[in-house]
Amino acid sequence: MVTKASTLHYSSRTHRLVVPQYGAPRAASSAIPAKRLSKLRVNWFIIGSVCGIAMSFFMNVVFTSLILPHYRSFRALEHPELATLRDVPTRLAQQKIAKVQAKPIIEAKAPPPPPPPSYPLKVALKVSSGDTLLTMLLKQNVPSQEAHQVVNTLKKEFNPGMLRVGQRISLTLDKHERLNDRAAVKELAIRLPSLTTVELARLKEGTFSLAAERVKMVDTPYRAVGKVRSSLYQAAADAGIPSATMAELVRAFSYDIDFQREIHPGDTIEVLMNRKVAESGEAAMGGASNVRYAALTLHGKKHEIYHFADSSGLSGWFDARGNSVKKSLLKTPMNAARISSGYGMRRHPVLGYSKMHRGVDFAARTGTPILAAGDGVVTYRGWKGGYGNYVQVKHNATYQTAYGHISRFHPSVKNGSRVKQGQVIAYVGSTGMSTGPHLHFEVLQAGRQVNPTAQKFNTSQALAGAQMQRFKARMASMRSELAKLQPNQITKPAAPQQVAMASPSKSGTQ
Ligand SMILES: [Zn+2]
Repeated sequence: MVTKASTLHYSSRTHRLVVPQYGAPRAASSAIPAKRLSKLRVNWFIIGSVCGIAMSFFMNVVFTSLILPHYRSFRALEHPELATLRDVPTRLAQQKIAKVQAKPIIEAKAPPPPPPPSYPLKVALKVSSGDTLLTMLLKQNVPSQEAHQVVNTLKKEFNPGMLRVGQRISLTLDKHERLNDRAAVKELAIRLPSLTTVELARLKEGTFSLAAERVKMVDTPYRAVGKVRSSLYQAAADAGIPSATMAELVRAFSYDIDFQREIHPGDTIEVLMNRKVAESGEAAMGGASNVRYAALTLHGKKHEIYHFADSSGLSGWFDARGNSVKKSLLKTPMNAARISSGYGMRRHPVLGYSKMHRGVDFAARTGTPILAAGDGVVTYRGWKGGYGNYVQVKHNATYQTAYGHISRFHPSVKNGSRVKQGQVIAYVGSTGMSTGPHLHFEVLQAGRQVNPTAQKFNTSQALAGAQMQRFKARMASMRSELAKLQPNQITKPAAPQQVAMASPSKSGTQ
């Protein structure tokens, strides 16, 4: 009650100045006289003005020292001519300009030659994807004209476009005699997959010498062992068997093996041959020689063949009993490499012989050549109901073979024409009652279809007498050789000195 009464009292005397909230604490002490009040007003006015002036001065300083230099340096960078004519940059601004301009120069200088390289400089380069010899040289600070000269000189020995990813190039750089900060190619050597080394050396500016040096290779025994995962051909390639060697072996096995149905994952191929190996232990790609033994292990059954040749001109593949692998009829009457793998086939069931089917099917693309299974005479060529286009060949008094669903006949094949074993007689198709391109192959014995896999066809040649004795000795030496070799291991050739000492007189004949 008391406070309320006193508040009211003071407010009535001082009018606007007294605010009710402040009223209570001040109540007892202050009653401001009018004279003092006006002095207070003047004071506050002066303080306000001073603060305003100080503030504007401060803002001015901030503007000139912080914002203007940025603006000037920005202008100076954009229009240097204007900056020098019209703007007198402050010290701070000059520093800023110096900083901005210096920065990129420092950055550009830093990576390529941190300290000036000490020449001659050896560089080991590795070709990565997208690289060309030219771009690789340019990256090494070689002047463009010289890089082109180097590439053009190399073209005499190899095609620089054939550089492969991962290939190594050893490069020796020298200080360029004319262009101070550039490098000159002193030497360059490229190792090619054929184990040839191409070497280039600088004679003088614009002139290079070029030499191709073949690394000395020694024929070294090699035992390749491959396991079928996706295909027999892949297994062979993984084991280091060149495709040409594989083609020869498949031809040799085609008399006995049905490459459509008898190859399965887990089967193995083994080959004894020679490979060209450098003294470093590096083997040349491809290039097998003296392929002398091969084995296919199919479903646990081992089919071995041995190569045998003698002075009488005999040369060929034989089984362990001395019978030539060549039979009167092929079991796979097409290039086995062209056969679609049996497992994983969805479009067409790859049928074997049964009472209902009476033939065997080989799935292959339309147009794949069909080979005559044996020597003989064509007895039918034309359309034959569900077989579609059809060819029948009479081989001897006992056997005939038939080929169905053909897309087209070979022009040389007419009714009555003679054919040789392995000759192309027609091409795979899907004519007649067929669900997809394949060859329907039948073997007929006395006019009736028989199961070709169950037939024993006659060998074309059997070794006997002295020939058989030599063959047996040869076979024994191959077997002991195989026993000594680890699968897929490249043996380093003997030390070069020994090779040189052992055959100084022979070297002329090789
Ligand atoms: Zn069929």
